[in-house]
Amino acid sequence: MKFPLISDIAITSIISIDIKASIAEALDLLLEQNHRNMVVLDKDCFRILSIIDVLRIQKNKLVLNMSLSKLNLNKIPTINKSKNVLDTLEYLNNNMEYICALNEDNSLYGLLSHTDITGNIDPDTLMDNYRLVDFLKQGRRMKWVDSEAITSVLLDEMQHGLFDNVIIVEDMKPVGILTTKDVMKLIKHKNNLDLAVSNYMSSPVDSIHKNSSVKDAIKYIKQKHYKRVVVVDDDGKLSGIITQKELISLTYSRWAMLMKEYQDELSEINHILENKNKEYETLASTDSLTGLYNRYKFSELYLSSYTAMTQRHNDMSIILLDIDFFKKVNDTYGHNAGDKVLIQVSHALLRTLRDIDIVCRWGGEEFIVLLPTASLSNATILAQKLRKYIENMEIEIVGSISASFGVSQVREGEDMKEAIDRADKALYLAKDSGRNCVKTELS
Ligand code: GH3
Ligand code: MG
Ligand code: MG
Repeated sequence: MKFPLISDIAITSIISIDIKASIAEALDLLLEQNHRNMVVLDKDCFRILSIIDVLRIQKNKLVLNMSLSKLNLNKIPTINKSKNVLDTLEYLNNNMEYICALNEDNSLYGLLSHTDITGNIDPDTLMDNYRLVDFLKQGRRMKWVDSEAITSVLLDEMQHGLFDNVIIVEDMKPVGILTTKDVMKLIKHKNNLDLAVSNYMSSPVDSIHKNSSVKDAIKYIKQKHYKRVVVVDDDGKLSGIITQKELISLTYSRWAMLMKEYQDELSEINHILENKNKEYETLASTDSLTGLYNRYKFSELYLSSYTAMTQRHNDMSIILLDIDFFKKVNDTYGHNAGDKVLIQVSHALLRTLRDIDIVCRWGGEEFIVLLPTASLSNATILAQKLRKYIENMEIEIVGSISASFGVSQVREGEDMKEAIDRADKALYLAKDSGRNCVKTELS
């Protein structure tokens, strides 16, 4: 078969970037070069950053100075550029959208998309590239006899066999054909069936070379108004016989099979994209150290809670807390120990609060909690509970720590910043009053 080589169809005008680069650098390069995607070079594999990833990065407002390695980009399979496009068929079932074409030394040669592959094996291309010999290999039954064969013997065989036509050969070269139509005529005219078949065959017989493409054969058959065509080799000897119906149905069934695989793969890709989206949303809405919500997500959740509060005339309060002398923890025990404190405080918050409360890392060693349905006094009681919990925590290496708290209640008609500012003022007061205490906003 003469299907195109990977090197013929791979796109070589691609851009690539090291995985250690930042998202911003990658986006700059994409925009600068006006490309839809780029190959990301990882240590021992290739990944792809596509326009879909870019849209998600934007939608989820990811921090652009983050390394590409954080994005968990899809790995792409590789194939040697000297392979044939049909060698990629196995990948079509494998959730792939792209394949990297590699040089002999495994360096990047180009990129191959799903469309590049299916575009090169569509029915038209299939017909163009499948040669008759490829079909004949599939072992179709055919019947041929020597021109000396006695007609009556042949008719017996035709009756018992499943052949609706017989090719008559001399030295294996086709010299005629006996079809069911010829048989009908023969019986109608009460011909002498003891004579050799050469007396009754349709002759001469047109043939076509076995290396012709299926497309050419179909064209030829159409032109001549034949139903079938005899196929010969270089020496003009019989290779087989093939009908128009077979040519078309074989090509299309092959195509249908590829399309089915393609459909399965498409739904698989959709599924993967959905998961990817969820991954990105988590990435964009949480703080990577503590797993708590980040400021961006907090603002979003604040808005929906605020709407619920005004509709249902509930109370809603805010607790802002800041770890005391945290700089000293870092200075004394190191940054890693500091990180562990932050993680443990996050766990303490999640454990002490209700499911409906929204806990967020506001920045550094500062946390904010939104308490839907809590009044100022309820929130203050909760803050005291948290303060005690944190004060009593046993932290490895570091020992014990404390935190200061500011509490405010959200008022109707004000924006998030105003409510947080009051909690912040209260927190400042708590720091000023010697730390490890809770202060409530001044009314
Ligand atoms: P105060 O009681 O007044 O709040 O004093 P403090 O030392 O806690 O406050 P300060 O603002 O002086 O220092 C906060 C420190 O938190 C400084 C900064 O290096 C550290 N920090 C911020 N983010 C992180 C982090 O993710 N990990 C670690 N280990 N330290 C952090
Ligand atoms: Mg602090
Ligand atoms: Mg602070």
